[in-house]
Amino acid sequence: MALRVGVVGGGQLARMMVPAAVELGLDIRVLAEGPGMSAAIAATAEGDYHDLDTVLAFAREVDAVTFDHEHVPQDVLRGLVDAGIAVHPGPDALAVAQDKITMRQRLGELGFPVPDWAAVHDADELRAFLAEHGGRAVVKTARGGYDGKGVRVVSGAAEVEDWFAAVAETGADQALLVEELVPFTRELAQSVARRPSGEVVAWPLVETIQRDGVCAEVIAPAPASAGRLADAAESLAVGIAETLGVTGVLAVELFQTADERILVNELAMRPHNTGHWTIDGATTSQFEQHLRAVLDLPLGATGSHDPVAVMVNVLGGPADGDLAARYPAALAAFPEAKLHFYGKAPRPGRKVGHVTVTGDEVDDVVYRARAAAAHFDD
Ligand code: ADP
Repeated sequence: MALRVGVVGGGQLARMMVPAAVELGLDIRVLAEGPGMSAAIAATAEGDYHDLDTVLAFAREVDAVTFDHEHVPQDVLRGLVDAGIAVHPGPDALAVAQDKITMRQRLGELGFPVPDWAAVHDADELRAFLAEHGGRAVVKTARGGYDGKGVRVVSGAAEVEDWFAAVAETGADQALLVEELVPFTRELAQSVARRPSGEVVAWPLVETIQRDGVCAEVIAPAPASAGRLADAAESLAVGIAETLGVTGVLAVELFQTADERILVNELAMRPHNTGHWTIDGATTSQFEQHLRAVLDLPLGATGSHDPVAVMVNVLGGPADGDLAARYPAALAAFPEAKLHFYGKAPRPGRKVGHVTVTGDEVDDVVYRARAAAAHFDD
């Protein structure tokens, strides 16, 4: 009988697990939030992931459960574990990725390098942090942020009045995260995969270029990173995966500073946008690796096919909404480009797909990947 894996959440990450599952001969099932999601091709169930009974009914039919996102509540995760279901990553690890304050706290306690930060409950606490950090800082909502939503650079407490009001309304001991505005020279990301029995592998360190808080491009490997920097990033990410007991793929977003230090910005415990290049550029893609890891199968080789791979996101898509109409020109102009679309309707700022090009020389590959992706914008 085929090994069965269940993915909670029907977004593009679940969708991109499907070809890998098909090739490996796995039976992949998806619990989608509703009809018409990116992963509808494998959606065997629809339902609310906040409801334990719904998730349990789905999970009882598979050998391991994993996720398209990090939003499944802790009580649901623990309910699955209590019912004897293999959940990867598990609730303790996921708790660290679900809340940015918990993440800063745990990583700091464990000695991993993070920006200066504080949990602030009101405007006075934020003003005190600003006064100690040159008058400007980055404020983040602890939960539910993505693609820069929930991140503001501020120089006064009034700029996050609405977020403090929302926090006060919850009544619980909630806070906002404030951290130093890191003067980074560039952003990097290190992905690793770990299986429950302990094996860990790492892909090459990559450079990520963000626009308006959203990942726009990824260059693999990160230029001028061989040696000390790559080693430091790999041991940092492996250390985090092992210490927190992460199972599946872990992506660690990093800031590189002028004095060559690296600081951890974010953790994602699932395949991540900064690892999409691995589908076309590495021996084992992050999606195949995630499935192998959550089923506790031996992990695949992570080497690259070509010296350089560049991934460019298609953000928004064409104003007329007609992606398909752009295919003939894009495919004809760049036959070497690999197009990946997520079955999502174009909308301003929305990640609707990505393009990957591989080759020998960074500037040339960046140019071709950008030009191919530009066929899908206006
Ligand atoms: P999200 O969870 O929404 O992706 P992040 O915390 O990753 O949010 O922040 C999005 C982007 O904002 C980062 O990639 C980076 O460019 C910028 N950013 C976040 N935190 C800081 C910081 N402390 N200093 C400088 N820039 C930051």
